[in-house]
Amino acid sequence: MIISMKRHASRDEINEVIQRIEEFGYKIHAIEGEERVVIGAIGVGDTSACLESLEAMAQVEKAVRISAPYKFVSREFKPEDTVIRLGQGVEVGGDEFIVMAGPCSVESEKQILESAELAAKGGAKVLRGGAFKPRTSPYDFQGMEEEGLKLLAKAREQTGLAIVTEVMSDTDVALIAGYADVLQVGARNMQNFALLKSLGHCGKPILLKRGLSSTIKELLMSAEYIVAHGNPDVMLCERGIRTFETATRNTCDISAVPVLHELTHLPVILDPSHATGKRSLVPALSRAGVAIGAEGLIVEIHPNPSKAISDGAQSLDPALWYSMMKDLQPYIALWKEARTAHAASA
Ligand code: PEP
Ligand code: MN
Repeated sequence: MIISMKRHASRDEINEVIQRIEEFGYKIHAIEGEERVVIGAIGVGDTSACLESLEAMAQVEKAVRISAPYKFVSREFKPEDTVIRLGQGVEVGGDEFIVMAGPCSVESEKQILESAELAAKGGAKVLRGGAFKPRTSPYDFQGMEEEGLKLLAKAREQTGLAIVTEVMSDTDVALIAGYADVLQVGARNMQNFALLKSLGHCGKPILLKRGLSSTIKELLMSAEYIVAHGNPDVMLCERGIRTFETATRNTCDISAVPVLHELTHLPVILDPSHATGKRSLVPALSRAGVAIGAEGLIVEIHPNPSKAISDGAQSLDPALWYSMMKDLQPYIALWKEARTAHAASA
């Protein structure tokens, strides 16, 4: 069960409700929100009787039974789409389709400032770039770390773009949150539960990427960790999954987008770069992402992909980036029409 308290309910009123829930044999799982307290109740008991009793309490706004194992992120709990403010005036999940673009890694001041310029000129609203890199080999470039974060901040200053960058460890959360607008959890860390918990109180929105071999349910359970620990601003990212197919780096599970839209109110971002591993395939999958109703894209671009330290093969060169963004515009116009029609009928 999830119980939403009325706005500005007092501590005593909240405690009274908690006591009532506990009388029915449930355990209080999580409490979140600054203006409004939302209580998760877990356990086995007479749910119908408990709900009825809670709804009769004046300070309770809503008490609902959630059948999904993920509670706060489920559509059952919150039917309306979540809109996330990223900073720099950017909103994801609203009526704008948001493109995030940038290199796989921050490599140098020149490279990231040129990339930011390219991203902004092409119409992206968010600059991506890893400063802490999860590399398969310990001998590969591991990222510029704090120096890279400083360069990202400089790129934001020069272009007005919001910044998204990866966090790999709970011990780096505070440092990265001090620079970035959005913290990315990479595929390899989707089930790093210590990290997910610490993101619950980092004060910044999260871009949570689907694990290499993770199910949609596991992705939602990971999102639930972050939300249950106090941070409701989570974007989900489909970035391809491992299958038997070797023609692409991963297999883009395009149906994950509408499946997620049925199951959760959180925005869904498609990453066509890691999904394919091949630059020539990125424009087609980006079109698919817009057409299927994702809230945005995250795309790797590089001023000179042949010189990229990581993921050069999937990074768009400037010409392909600009042409892709131009070609996407009619699809984005249709996306907006569908969005407005959906909002009007809701
Ligand atoms: C990345 O965004 O560069 C990255 C490492 O992605 P993923 O975690 O999806 O592999
Ligand atoms: Mn990459």
